[in-house]
Amino acid sequence: MDKAKISELFCSLQGEGIYWGKKQIFVRFYSCNMKCVYCDEEEKTFHGPYEEIDVETLRNRLLLLELENGPFHSISLTGGEPLLYADFLKRLSPLLKEDGFRLYLETNGTYPERLREVISWMDIIAMDIKLPTATHDRAFWKEHREFLEVGRRKGLFVKIVVTAETAFEEVERAIEEVARVDCTIPFILQPVTPYGEVAETIPEKSLFSFEQRARSVLKDVRVISQLHKLVGIL
Ligand code: SF4
Repeated sequence: MDKAKISELFCSLQGEGIYWGKKQIFVRFYSCNMKCVYCDEEEKTFHGPYEEIDVETLRNRLLLLELENGPFHSISLTGGEPLLYADFLKRLSPLLKEDGFRLYLETNGTYPERLREVISWMDIIAMDIKLPTATHDRAFWKEHREFLEVGRRKGLFVKIVVTAETAFEEVERAIEEVARVDCTIPFILQPVTPYGEVAETIPEKSLFSFEQRARSVLKDVRVISQLHKLVGIL
């Protein structure tokens, strides 16, 4: 894969998870293997526009952004699903490490084999566990389990988007899967932001029951909503 389809390259604040508020460069890869109903990047992920960029050009643009607007906490490789471009990342990532960047991979956690190919260059892995009621897709427990096993070596944390439809059993299953691997992995419950087909967020009562259950098993549980939706930034 000589070139990757990039739908956006920009500087902003990380809006989710345990690095909430950190200044990053975002490389948004085009396309995804899922189609979550709450996807707030649907336009950019599936309908374009995008630019096809080779490794050296992207590297140079990132260096320029660092020079003009840095220092940054890290480069967020996001999407869409960046692991669709694992071959490209295998060539880009070692160069960015040579340049002194920290790499932050944001992924839906469904490609453990592709993660294996690039993990040695990653510093932080922000992994989603996708619940079927939230995505309206099939369950990915097998893929998520393998992904957790591979990703635990590198700054991994898990994020789960919870909605008004989320069932207690699904959250329990997610908690079990994380606990099987390592109960110290940070576990983030992210209340869905109403968008598109999603008209309402999760009721407080459900959110707190999930949080309490997670806290009874895991060591680091947090409820964190989306920063960029709160303050209206990209
Ligand atoms: S995995 Fe992420 S990018 Fe892909 S459809 Fe779901 S929310 Fe959108």
